Amino acid sequence: MKDWLRFIPSIHDLQQTDEYRALAEKFKVDRNKVHQRLTKLLDKVRADLLQGRWTGPSIQSKEFTDWIWIQLESILSHQFAPQLKRVINATGTVLHTNLGRAPLSEKAIEQIVAVARSYSNLEYNLQEGKRGSRHDLVEKSLLELTGGEAAMIVNNNAAAVYLVLRALAKDQEVIVSRGELVEIGGSFRVSSIMEESGAVLKEVGTTNKTHLSDYEQALNDETAMIMKVHTSNFKMIGFTKSVPAHEIVSFKENYPNVLVYEDLGSGVLFDFKQEGIGEEPTISSVLESGVDLVSFSGDKLLGGPQAGIILGRRDVIARLKKHPLARVLRVDKMTLAGLEGTLLQYTQGTKGIQNIPALRSVRMTKEEVRERSEAFMSALINCNVSLQIECMEDFSLVGGGTMPEVRLQTYVVSVKHPQIRPSTIEQKLRGRNIPIIVRVRDEEILLDLRTVQEREEQEIIEAFKEIIDKSFTHD
Ligand SMILES: *Cc1c(COP(=O)(O)O)cnc(C)c1O
Repeated sequence: MKDWLRFIPSIHDLQQTDEYRALAEKFKVDRNKVHQRLTKLLDKVRADLLQGRWTGPSIQSKEFTDWIWIQLESILSHQFAPQLKRVINATGTVLHTNLGRAPLSEKAIEQIVAVARSYSNLEYNLQEGKRGSRHDLVEKSLLELTGGEAAMIVNNNAAAVYLVLRALAKDQEVIVSRGELVEIGGSFRVSSIMEESGAVLKEVGTTNKTHLSDYEQALNDETAMIMKVHTSNFKMIGFTKSVPAHEIVSFKENYPNVLVYEDLGSGVLFDFKQEGIGEEPTISSVLESGVDLVSFSGDKLLGGPQAGIILGRRDVIARLKKHPLARVLRVDKMTLAGLEGTLLQYTQGTKGIQNIPALRSVRMTKEEVRERSEAFMSALINCNVSLQIECMEDFSLVGGGTMPEVRLQTYVVSVKHPQIRPSTIEQKLRGRNIPIIVRVRDEEILLDLRTVQEREEQEIIEAFKEIIDKSFTHD
């Protein structure tokens, strides 16, 4: 194989070709960057030849130069194209944690783009012409929407929990019901965050039952806080008892220094319960129950960017804002812009809420999904007769560790092909430039249009067309 080495075209010759120039043009990178990658690729070919490992096309053939350009293009597209990219979510799981949770509303996107492109009043008070606080910007709309006294935004809800515990309960006891010591998504465990924060966890009750008297007995001079954790991602049924926040609030009146804090997990501004979806308490109803603090995520059922929102008593929030960790956990201008854009939709009422994709998806009725699925199905049938397509009832999930008990009634489009296995179709959909993520069940691909935007439907149809055409022209 060593003899073949001298047939490898020289870098210099390759650089004179149209293919080389076209690649540099396509990826808009300097020639020397393309040169580097090409040198490395040829080095690899040489090494493979020397070690007798070469399995590519014959070096002297035209196929070999074609092979070089295909390889180089693939290397360049891997290195110079973004790796984090949009995907089409056809799973029906609305807040898919692996797929980036909540897609943002146009209003939120507009705000982010405007603030990203220019300078902004992030920390500048425009009325007084002097330094301002980034916290103040979004606080106003949050308070208006929830009735809270004060608010603060940090990176995510995990950061919010950590800050609250560290700033307000370090080296003191925090009482938590055993039934609420949850683990969310494998990476967030209340007990671990508590340990990191330096607060001392005092567990009360049993896994299935905690009574008010359990809290009462645990309370002592060392107690800084009673914490309630919303059991977002599981639901206990049967012989269970937990104590609602308002009962805890009323009994601890004799302990004015003990704070009651509820980690709400998702936290909703929109009352889904009223529409028969789940049992999430609204943020304002939790605040009304008299708790001192609540925290929740920005990118779960709120439908905004990743953020942790802390709301509650003004004096307590002021202590959090002054803590050194506040600087460590602070959010950037784009998060604040996206969050404010999202909140502005809520202040507009029903019409604005319908513009928040996550809320629209959760609230979409089964009939709406059916109508879209049927139209989609006809379009797909029109473009390829060999597919077996049907539409059937199924369920979608809310996801993101929220409303685990809720199964949203939906319709799915089932797609089968007599010769191509569903796992192969799934893989090809996933491997596309704009990947399409679907469900696979037994021998069929399932598409749940609940989470597919209308303008994405045509892209899915194109994808099926290409996959099936290619499978039969090349193989
Ligand atoms: C999701 C969740 C968290 C973590 O929130 P992130 O915003 O993902 O950091 C914390 N607590 C509860 C109860 C949750 O549901």
